[in-house]
Amino acid sequence: MASNRKIMVLPGDGIGTEIMKANMRVMDWLAKHRSLGFDMQEGFVGGAAYDAHGTPLTDETLADSIASDAVLFGAVGGPAYDDLPFELKPERGLLALRKEMDLFANLRPAIVFPSLVEASTLKPNVVSGLDIMILRELCGGSYFAEPRGIDDLGDGSRKGYDTNAYTTPEIERIGRVGMDLARKRGGKLTSVEKSNVMHSGILWREVMTALHAAEGDGVELGHMYADNCAMQLVRNPKQFDVIVTDNLFGDLLSDCAAMLTGSLGMLPSASLGAPDPETGLPKAMYEPVHGSAPDIAGKGIANPLAQFMSFAMMLRYSFDQGAEADLLEAAVDKALQSNRTGDIMTPGCTETGTEGMTDAVLDAMDRLAR
Ligand code: NAD
Repeated sequence: MASNRKIMVLPGDGIGTEIMKANMRVMDWLAKHRSLGFDMQEGFVGGAAYDAHGTPLTDETLADSIASDAVLFGAVGGPAYDDLPFELKPERGLLALRKEMDLFANLRPAIVFPSLVEASTLKPNVVSGLDIMILRELCGGSYFAEPRGIDDLGDGSRKGYDTNAYTTPEIERIGRVGMDLARKRGGKLTSVEKSNVMHSGILWREVMTALHAAEGDGVELGHMYADNCAMQLVRNPKQFDVIVTDNLFGDLLSDCAAMLTGSLGMLPSASLGAPDPETGLPKAMYEPVHGSAPDIAGKGIANPLAQFMSFAMMLRYSFDQGAEADLLEAAVDKALQSNRTGDIMTPGCTETGTEGMTDAVLDAMDRLAR
């Protein structure tokens, strides 16, 4: 089957290898039933790479990842690596990939499947049907901008400080991703900052407003202060479609939005970079939000759905295969109607493992595709 879609597959550690194996079955289904093939290359990352090569990410794996159209990532980490020096820890492999691929846009959808409404801590009428996207700037702001550090003040005390700085191009490039996303979804973009008290927020609002005036056809832009956004997310989250915000606020608001859905095993994410000048495709990495879950690794009980939905995001955002992404997400919802892994188990459903849940999703794809 001819294909020019190059995927770098990095299962990682712990349940990462188990849920990636399950994801391969979904890919096989798409190859067989939709003639959707991928050129796949697999590599080690995290603890697995340390075991094989003494480093959490080899130069070769990094180069192959950069050369691919998209990276599908599992999870890294585990107690066996806890005592390694900082630079050799499994998580450094993940951070190096994000940095070297310049993945500045982090997409975290918060979707509440009808069958999982009861898993949220919020009232069903607040979260049922929820489908929002938090877009977080990932390479700038408080976590990277200079100056930052801890200074000795010479009087027995110290000063710790970070800088929340953003330049016009940094705001514009994340704003463009926000508008593109809004166009592919409900057409509504909410830009979030604190322009009432922060200079970086004033510039953020000015640049977003100008960008929208110049390039925002088909997108309705609104502005909101970050503290109000946190309140609105738990009061009435369905008022949002896409939220675009900086690194620090995005870190907090995306975790808050994620928990509206009730379960870590259900949360996908995508990190995108600038479009490639030749292919027009953004550099991209897709991964579940959860970690390697050492407590359940090797038991065959990990929930594979966050991995599947990360793959669905890959189909939609890297390969423009929206119909296949929709099919996979619909199959996940259908499978959830009676099947549950332990992390989302509710009375009345059948408890199953990674393989059983994958069978249920593939079965639902068979039925939906008829
Ligand atoms: P974790 O996300 O691995 O697990 C937290 C809890 O959620 C555990 O009880 C686990 O069993 C459960 N859980 C997570 N995913 C699940 C799934 N798919 N199905 C069923 N249950 C699931 O977080 P942690 O325990 O804090 O971290 C474990 C390791 O993972 C650490 O080494 C940490 O650094 C690493 N980590 C990696 C990533 C990543 O690779 N992106 C993210 C977070 C943590």
